[in-house]
Amino acid sequence: MFDSKRRVVVVVGAQWGDEGKGKLVDVLAERADWVVRYQGGANAGHTVHIGDVSFVLHQIPSGILHPGVRCAIGNGVVLDPETLFTEIDELVRDGVDVEGRLYVSDRAHLVLPCHKLVDAESSANKAIGTTGRGIGPAYEDKVGRRGIRVLDLRHPEKLRALVERGAEHADAQLARFGSTKRVDVPATLETLDRLRPRLLALAEDVGRCVHRAREAGASVLLEGAQGSLLDVDHGTYPFVTSSSTTSGGASTGAGIAPTAIDAVLGVVKAYTTRVGAGPLPTEFDEELGERVRRLGNEYGATTGRPRRCGWFDGVVVRYAVRINGLSGLAVTKLDVLDTLDRVAICTGYAVDGEVHDEFPGDLDALDRATPRYEWFEGWRQSTADARRIEDLPAPARRYLDRIESLVNAPIDFVSVGTRRDQIIGLA
Ligand code: GDP
Repeated sequence: MFDSKRRVVVVVGAQWGDEGKGKLVDVLAERADWVVRYQGGANAGHTVHIGDVSFVLHQIPSGILHPGVRCAIGNGVVLDPETLFTEIDELVRDGVDVEGRLYVSDRAHLVLPCHKLVDAESSANKAIGTTGRGIGPAYEDKVGRRGIRVLDLRHPEKLRALVERGAEHADAQLARFGSTKRVDVPATLETLDRLRPRLLALAEDVGRCVHRAREAGASVLLEGAQGSLLDVDHGTYPFVTSSSTTSGGASTGAGIAPTAIDAVLGVVKAYTTRVGAGPLPTEFDEELGERVRRLGNEYGATTGRPRRCGWFDGVVVRYAVRINGLSGLAVTKLDVLDTLDRVAICTGYAVDGEVHDEFPGDLDALDRATPRYEWFEGWRQSTADARRIEDLPAPARRYLDRIESLVNAPIDFVSVGTRRDQIIGLA
């Protein structure tokens, strides 16, 4: 993946998230010098299995599991400091050495108790299906220029004023929702005071660190959370997350120039899933949905929510290839389809009698869209032991070939199981 021409690589989800980025990033991180998260917050959940231990990481890049790899949380992330330290303490308890190789951007905005309270009390957020971890309200405060950044902890008096102002805003919102709950300012200040020394010890100008590392010839992995169709600009708005999940967000959210990015790898499942409300044109019927959900263990890593499942949507992934400038794809969970008699790929949508092969911005069109499918015979045998493309059954290869030609991107990796070694394409 990394070579002299490809030193800064972005990994993004090219569907609605949960594509299995965690495992791929973990395997690639081993070959990187730096791994940087650039957006989202503790609503992301990567599951990484190492030996018999499985780690669920919400904020810390999974690169932390590899000794010597430096990890950073970029300015584009909204950081939940309590969760961060819980995560660090758990890693340390499991024998992972975190000391001196985890950095937090001093420009990253903080997720505070007021954000979680507003999230929990807002029925509008519930309708969108947010995880209730305060991410959306924290981004709202960032854009509304009311946010509190890591670097504000350096100035206790200014911090107090900022917390009070934020609480005022949150309280007004809570009153509007008809909630009787209010922000506890002294408790918030106490928490921040307690976390201050630990957090400031990690604070860095992450953009500058990454820039310098790159200049010195280091390889850098920029790790996206969620997926392209959840991007606040390019996703199925308003059923989206509050940040820029696509490769453009990697540049602003890590604090490096767009021209510093050498390659973008898109991770896709061999089928489609999404959590929460919003359109999913290729959604299975209930019976197949339940079967694939079980085969693929499609339950959220952070929330345990069952995911909705459907056929591979070529319209979605081709769109993701275009908006991210994907240089290659990693197809995960091919093994989940091993027992199906036949499999389908969506090549376009019929909307009011017209066929569209571009993903629409208008959800009304998507609601009326009927997917057009190409059917393929199933391979009905295990792919779990394949380590080269040639090891895959011919029908599985035909399926992957069609994905490549349909979405205009080469498949660099295929994942055929949860284990780290179950990947085709790692030379
Ligand atoms: P992420 O947020 O994109 O990393 O996705 P999640 O962590 O929510 O989901 C990944 C889940 O799928 C984890 O439990 C992985 O162990 C599992 N997984 C990843 N790749 C594969 C694969 O190729 N086959 C199977 N069966 N499971 C996989």
